[in-house]
Amino acid sequence: MNAQLASRLARLAWLVCLPGVLGGQTPVPPARAVTTITADDIRHRISVLADDSMRGRDTPSPQLDQVANWIASEFRRFGLEPGAGDGNYLQHYEIVRSEVDTARTSLTVARGGGPPVVLRAAREMDVLPFGPPPLHDVTGPVVLLSGRGNSSADPLAGADVRGAWLALLATSAPSGMISLDVGTAQAALAAGAVGLLVVSDRSDEQWRARTSGGRPIQSVGDGESSPGSADPALVEIRDGSAARALGLDVAALRAEQVRRARPLRGVTLTFHAERRVISAARAPNVIGVVEGSDPTLKHEYVFVTAHMDHIGVASPLNPACRARGGDSICNGADDDASGTAAVMANAQAFARLVPHAKRSVVFMTVSGEEKGLWGSEYFTTHATVPLSGVVADLNIDMVGRNWKDTIAVIGREQSDLGSTLDRVAAAHPELDIKPIGDIWPSENFYSRSDHFNFARRGVPILFFFNGTHSDYHQVTDEVAKIDAEKEARIAQLIFYLGVEIANAAARPRWDPAAYKRVVDGAN
Ligand SMILES: [Zn+2]
Repeated sequence: MNAQLASRLARLAWLVCLPGVLGGQTPVPPARAVTTITADDIRHRISVLADDSMRGRDTPSPQLDQVANWIASEFRRFGLEPGAGDGNYLQHYEIVRSEVDTARTSLTVARGGGPPVVLRAAREMDVLPFGPPPLHDVTGPVVLLSGRGNSSADPLAGADVRGAWLALLATSAPSGMISLDVGTAQAALAAGAVGLLVVSDRSDEQWRARTSGGRPIQSVGDGESSPGSADPALVEIRDGSAARALGLDVAALRAEQVRRARPLRGVTLTFHAERRVISAARAPNVIGVVEGSDPTLKHEYVFVTAHMDHIGVASPLNPACRARGGDSICNGADDDASGTAAVMANAQAFARLVPHAKRSVVFMTVSGEEKGLWGSEYFTTHATVPLSGVVADLNIDMVGRNWKDTIAVIGREQSDLGSTLDRVAAAHPELDIKPIGDIWPSENFYSRSDHFNFARRGVPILFFFNGTHSDYHQVTDEVAKIDAEKEARIAQLIFYLGVEIANAAARPRWDPAAYKRVVDGAN
């Protein structure tokens, strides 16, 4: 096509499209829309979210629901479309508190041609309390790890643990803690072992204390692990049961000088668990969308996210929050009312743009972050838009404290989003915000907020974070300590960055090595 024709067509397209795109409205460019992001609004919204009456926004709680409803009503007021499906702004997920139904949970040992031996839960067998047990039967042969010593040789070398149980020996301390070869256990699970059978030397007294009484387990979803899921069975038995049911000479195995693993011929273990639901509740994510203005690119999405939950109120049942003096409410003004306010400010500014950005921009405030990234886990496994169309997640967690002119942006080296951010920051010296990288790699902040669930499922991310402080997860994380003026400048930088990503011809690209590590490594 020649240049003259192209320019004539472009002019024609302009004339034809203009009324449709703008609907007769006066254009509102980013430099105008950004002025809706103000320190006053940031401070006001944080003071609503982190008010004592919100009682620390625990997941689940009536106050968390109240906060979610308020954010949804604000999204509606800004003109966002509902993003949770069926015309709703709220996406709910289930939280189940359950306990192992010991009367119906057992480990069956089949050996040679003899009759199987059934070890019953809370009697001869204990289900280890690391999350809900698999609710499908877990069956397999046994690989036995024996001996001690710290030779660097891999004790699993030559042993095929895929589809098998790893049986290993543990010694108990007076505190009730047991010590075992955790590294080899993890390696076996990573290599496809279906269960761990821990053989311990606990005293009768310790055994009774551990196995009597239910231990509530909180889990997300309906609490059922799906048949065929990879959740391993984790159970403990004592030396006596190991001798009787598996025919092991445990004393001799403990005395061996070299660690080694070998198959236990003719033995098959089958774990069967059932659980009793104690209570069920649900918790919300809030999702609003500013639809893209480009007919093609609007099917791609830039996400701006933060978590609206915090750790609640101090109580014997909630050791996460500790009372100090007369104050028992962990307000979470910085963590993460600040990020939530920044998401709301961006939602308002993006909705003001005329025309809208080319790609759709999705604003989501999740819950359950403090419990283990529950809300973002649920969203990224029950996404309301195709995840393959999500081009970036800009996650904001704790941006209201510390430096005046600097923001740590974690994950910036993993995609070209880092260089895009630098370009945007340089183009807006009036914001006076310098983006830096992760200066605390040993803290592993990368896996500690909601962007992580997007990243490991292939979405390029940036994580905006001002670092922790002495009020982190304390009753003193209060509104009065928030620097709303600097947070407004950070929110404006995120706005300009979001506009840049949403309007770019090409979507952000992963660094191939980072993709291999973060995405392939997670699957
Ligand atoms: Zn937190």
